[in-house]
Formats: sequence, C-alpha cells, structure tokens
Amino acid sequence: MNRSVLIASLLSLFLVVWGSFVTRSNAVAPSRPTLDGLSAYQGAKPVAGATYRFVAMGDWGAGTPFQKDVAAQLAKRYKEAPYQAVLLLGDNIYPDGNVTKHGKAYFTDTYAPLIEQSVQFIVALGNHDVLAGHQDDQLRFFHMPGYYYSVHKPLVDIFVIDSNRFAKDEVQQRWLAKALHASRTPWKVVMGHHPIYSSGDHGLNSGLRKTLEPILVKEKADLYLAGHDHEYERFQPIQGVVHLVSGGGGAYLRNFEKPLPGSLVRVKAHHFLDFEARANQLTLTVISKTGEIIDQALWPKHAPAQLPSAAVVTPKSAALR
Ligand SMILES: [Zn+2]
Repeated sequence: MNRSVLIASLLSLFLVVWGSFVTRSNAVAPSRPTLDGLSAYQGAKPVAGATYRFVAMGDWGAGTPFQKDVAAQLAKRYKEAPYQAVLLLGDNIYPDGNVTKHGKAYFTDTYAPLIEQSVQFIVALGNHDVLAGHQDDQLRFFHMPGYYYSVHKPLVDIFVIDSNRFAKDEVQQRWLAKALHASRTPWKVVMGHHPIYSSGDHGLNSGLRKTLEPILVKEKADLYLAGHDHEYERFQPIQGVVHLVSGGGGAYLRNFEKPLPGSLVRVKAHHFLDFEARANQLTLTVISKTGEIIDQALWPKHAPAQLPSAAVVTPKSAALR
C-alpha cells in the first residue's frame, strides 16, 4: 500500500468513526427542548429500551381507490417497521355506518395483511357510524368494549372517547377525567372522531373545547387524535396538549379554511400517522398514500408544564394552504 492510499484510508476511517460519534451524540439530543429535534430524530440510532409502535387514521371506510392506496402503504410500513395497533378515528363505514353491508369489503378484505398478523384495531365511532343506528353492530364487528373505553399498553395508555355525545355526556366526562388521572404511563393518548381544533371546514368545536379540553389539560393528556376533517393538520401544543387531525384514510379530501391560531402543519393528502413511543420520547411520521413522508415530529418527555413545539418538516408548499 503506498503512502497516499494509507493516508486516504486513515482519513476515511476517521470520518466513519467521527460520523458515528456525531450520530450517537444526536441520539441523546431529544432530551433538550429544541426545535432541531427533527435532525436528531433522523440521525438517531434507536435508544436502548422498550418501544410501543402504533399507527392511526380517520375517515377511512369509503371503498375508494385512495383507501386501498393508504391500506397498501400501511401494509408496506408494517413490513418495514411492524406496529402493534391501528387506531381508527371514526367514520369507519361510509355513508351510514352499515358494517353488516360493507364491513367485509371496506375492512376485512382491505386490511387483510394486518388482520392476518393479529395487529390490534382500536376503534372510535364517527358521526357517519351512528347516523342510522348501526353503532352497536360496529361495537360487535370491531370488538369494541363500549362506546368509550381505554386500552393500556406498555408506555402508552389510549383513551377512546365517543365524541358524538361527549359534550353532553357528563358520565363519560367523569369517566375520562378519572381514567386519565389514574394513568401512570409515560404517554397518554386520547382519541375521538371530532377535533377540538381544526382549520378544516368543520372548524373549532366549541362544545368539546368547553368540556373535553379542560380535562385533557388538567389530567395532562399528551395527544388528542381526531379525524372528521378530511386532511392532515398538526397544532403546536395548546396548554400542553398536542392536537392532530388525521381524516385522510380513504374518504374524499376537503379544503382548509383560514388557519386557526397554533396550526403548524396542514397538508391536503390521504395519509396515516405512524408513532413510536419510548419512555423518553414520542416520534411521529406522517405517510401519504404514495409513501411520501409529509410531516415528522418528536416530543421529548421531560416534565415541564408544557411540551415544547415539535420539530417540523415543511411539507411541499403546493400542498399547503
Ligand atoms: Zn366525520
């Protein structure tokens, strides 16, 4: 080996070692509440310790080609990075919730690759699901223990609400407050169909803002996941709670209205949300029906009253409104 080859080899070895050091030092970065958490996420090697992975989407059971496209991406993601559960955020069966008629085609056949792998489906009821009185059929079909319930997983407790009647249902409100209060996991995720905050055409939900939001804030929920508006939107934490709208599982998309205060990312696209929970961080990757990553965020778990804003990938400007 001549001298210049030796020097080049030593130099490349140094770069490799230095590069892995940089990657590793990024891996501890998430404990800092900074806006550059995203690059830490992209470069980070997995932190040692347990994880719980789940995906979510709403407004899916429409029998459209888009639903099949999103389902194909879900199956692809499962192969690449298996997840344990799919959170279905309501409007499960269009147009009127008739699961007896459409359940096989829209659910069983469409998500067969996941059902075969025993992926758990955790389901909330949307307005279309209760429109014609098919809600009890859906309970049976999706093995839901009730209209509202909680599911306890390693690292994550999931609280499913029935947002169709939450604002008027004091029993359900008391249940949620008590269940959240008793939760001891690092991450508390509340899911329902109707968003509190949305820049979509349904807009701000004043009933839920009055009844649901104070419970989420007081009992320190980390995330509120909803659908109902057919697009993707992420808000900066509002009183410590991150609000995500994910209504792009298969139904036709809708346009955004004027952005509400605190709206960080808005993308009109069919998509699903992919989460990975660890004791000290929660990461989100939003994947479109074509497999494109349209948003990513990371929330470190460290105790202050308010979570820091997550890092943002600016989505394609054409998709923004
Ligand atoms: Zn809806």
